[in-house]
Amino acid sequence: MSEKPTAAFFDFAGCEGDQLEIVNLEERLLDLVEVVEVVSFREAMSEHSEDYDIAFVEGSITTPHDVERLEAVRSNANIVISIGSCSAFGGINSIRNEQDFQTVKERAYGADAAMFDDPDAELFDSFEQAQPAKAFVDVEYEIPGCPIDSEEFIQTLTAILQGGDPSLANHPVCVDCKLAENTCAFDRGEICLGPITRGGGCDATCVSQGTRCWGCRGMVDNPAENAYSEVLQEYGVTTDELVNEFTLYWSWQREHGPQAKAQGIEQ
Ligand code: SF4
Ligand code: SF4
Repeated sequence: MSEKPTAAFFDFAGCEGDQLEIVNLEERLLDLVEVVEVVSFREAMSEHSEDYDIAFVEGSITTPHDVERLEAVRSNANIVISIGSCSAFGGINSIRNEQDFQTVKERAYGADAAMFDDPDAELFDSFEQAQPAKAFVDVEYEIPGCPIDSEEFIQTLTAILQGGDPSLANHPVCVDCKLAENTCAFDRGEICLGPITRGGGCDATCVSQGTRCWGCRGMVDNPAENAYSEVLQEYGVTTDELVNEFTLYWSWQREHGPQAKAQGIEQ
């Protein structure tokens, strides 16, 4: 990488909330541009360059055109970093992966879904499944979250620039939740994915705010499936109820990730 690395941001299928989190860094963003030259960032600037060392990729991949763009990004960049859960493991977009594609189209377009059957309509192709960037190209690092935590973004980028270790936290959300002295959601009669969701970054914010962990940061690398099964049994959660929880963020991950074999969640 050059002395002052160049960076570019790219968005695919997603809400762009991760880029918004970065823009919202405000003054700290100015510190960042002291050490990284941002050459492309649609949410923050109009200039664009194809010359960049680090590519931040947001959103899931849902069309053949996305794949072409992503491959071009990959060939230009030395380092590709997925930002946000859609890019890292399909995220909330993969909720459609579990559903009949025709139903998905009808939910999105209503009566206009019929246009997909019109041979004269000039529509772009769409994959039936939403997939993460790593399903198509090599990705060096991931910063999960829906949206990402901007502190974690800074920590990851700083570690990369300093040649340090940008590894993500690999403890479950429960650890952060207990440090925050929250009442466990299971004790309130709710199903919580905290025991197998990657902690750090969010500091169990959803439980602290009175709800439960929905799993937006993806699974930890080695979920303690036995311990989680015991918790689920203790609180009378059925497999069907649990699998239903997984469809919000984890449809791609539970089918393709190494964690898919975790007890009670394999297909
Ligand atoms: S509320 Fe969820 S994250 Fe917190 S301790 Fe209970 S299971 Fe873990
Ligand atoms: S508590 Fe769970 S759902 Fe909420 S931000 Fe953290 S990982 Fe995401």
